[in-house]
Amino acid sequence: MAKKGSASSRTARAALQVLESLERSGIEQIGKSRGRKTATKAATAETAFSAAPSKAVAPPKAAPMPKAVSPAPPAAAAPSPQSAPVAGDTLELIRQEVAACRRCQELADTRTQTVFGVGNPRARLCFLGEAPGADEDRQGEPFVGRAGQLLTRIIEACTLARSDVYILNVLKCRPPGNRNPLPDEVGNCRGYLNRQLALIRPEFICCLGTIAAQTLLQTDTPISRLRGKFFDYQGIAVACTYHPAYLLRNPAAKKDVWEDMKALMRKLGIKLDKPLTP
Ligand code: SF4
Repeated sequence: MAKKGSASSRTARAALQVLESLERSGIEQIGKSRGRKTATKAATAETAFSAAPSKAVAPPKAAPMPKAVSPAPPAAAAPSPQSAPVAGDTLELIRQEVAACRRCQELADTRTQTVFGVGNPRARLCFLGEAPGADEDRQGEPFVGRAGQLLTRIIEACTLARSDVYILNVLKCRPPGNRNPLPDEVGNCRGYLNRQLALIRPEFICCLGTIAAQTLLQTDTPISRLRGKFFDYQGIAVACTYHPAYLLRNPAAKKDVWEDMKALMRKLGIKLDKPLTP
């Protein structure tokens, strides 16, 4: 009896624990149908507030992953030094980019202004110099100092005016103290030159001096060996001659420049009879 009573007592305690457990779970009544309904409600609430999906609910279809998008280039990104002309390019657009350019920090810090280029944007002939000097830096126009005035006389001796041709430099900023441009600076500015020439598309380019000739033709041949011949730059005929600043120091070289100009004008179909007397 004691054994049987003890078992009964254990069963009663176990039943009581189950009831207490159900009560703690919020289940107050046990009945066939009502108990099932209560359990279903609890499951529904759990599903609504739980991050874990119910087994019975199909997992939502995964949304397609957004396509990876390359970061857009900065709006005002300047072209790379060797960049091709961009669609919709204009000289005015390039001029604005140049005016804001600070690729060469020393030049940007010391310049008064950038010197873009001047003349006829549809010119058959471009004169390409090296870099602005002090006068050009002050006035914002290429070849306006003493060497520039000599270039103007050379152009006029060829029966042309400055407004007939386009005049520009390899560098758009003055190197301090008129030192030679550094290779990095030439590389930095090359893209602007390429784009200017691609838009003007002259028939002829006359390189004035070593830096202009060697930069455009990508050579290290000295100017004395480049002059007297014609070269090709992207379908444009290129002549090379001495820089007017060199002529100011070496007037005897003027006759060589005049020979170069006569050859160039012959190609342009312009007949020159008079000697150069700048
Ligand atoms: S020289 Fe040319 S690349 Fe260098 S800062 Fe001037 S505009 Fe820019």
